[in-house]
Amino acid sequence: DLEHIQENVPYKELIPFAESIHSDRLLRENNEKMRQEFTANVSHELKTPLTSISGYAELIETGIAKPADVPEFGRKIHVEASRMIQLVNDILQLSHLDNVSESHDTPQMETVDLLDVAKECVERQKVNAQKSFISLTYIGESAPILGSRSLLDELCQNLCDNAIRYNHPGGKVQLITACARDGHCSLTVKDNGIGIPKEAQSSVFERFYRVDKSRSKATGGTGLGLAIVKHIARIHNARIKLESEVDVGTTITVIFETAH
Ligand code: ADP
Repeated sequence: DLEHIQENVPYKELIPFAESIHSDRLLRENNEKMRQEFTANVSHELKTPLTSISGYAELIETGIAKPADVPEFGRKIHVEASRMIQLVNDILQLSHLDNVSESHDTPQMETVDLLDVAKECVERQKVNAQKSFISLTYIGESAPILGSRSLLDELCQNLCDNAIRYNHPGGKVQLITACARDGHCSLTVKDNGIGIPKEAQSSVFERFYRVDKSRSKATGGTGLGLAIVKHIARIHNARIKLESEVDVGTTITVIFETAH
């Protein structure tokens, strides 16, 4: 109620107040716009696999599909349904992380050694890497930080998964942990894969942004992996550094405060 306040507040103090109303409105409008964009994107991303599932199911149902085609169509339906499940899981995880950030209701923080996170991530992704003919290793020193083990596992998993997927057969992925003298510990995922063009580097952490949509989809991507990484880093007050060159590779480093 501006008029009411105007009576009691000296003129000079009114200016920042009016400005804050203005910026509050801008923020709300911006949030609303982002929400609308997100809904439109999600609908589109869900519609594509659903259309395909519906199409193949109809071919089988009406008998247009020859018996010999049925297993292949069944496989396609399975692939598209799996994509939808992955997408819904990622959306739920993002919405959960949004709530965590907004309510400042931080998850259970404990001392976590990034070296253990890297070790376990390599263990879990070993088969995945072998299938793509990628060598996956970890190296580094003990790097204790205060964090959520499950979220850090997910962050590492997402980065590692990308480093394998956007790589060539015979490629290398290395997870590196380090602690600097200034008290910062870091987790790095380095690959010698296809790289990210300079002009795309500031966008890859946005929801649904992809450099090459067909490559992302063909390898099971949802376009949300790095958005989830960004959120998890933010919850830990960590910074992300991205270095990448096309046809040379990508290095992503997440820098944390050390646990004291
Ligand atoms: P996606 O599910 O498409 O992989 P992400 O949010 O994980 O979604 O990544 C966004 C985009 O950034 C990817 O589609 C890809 O174009 C690019 N990208 C991410 N990681 C790498 C990497 N290690 N090497 C090359 N490109 C990458």
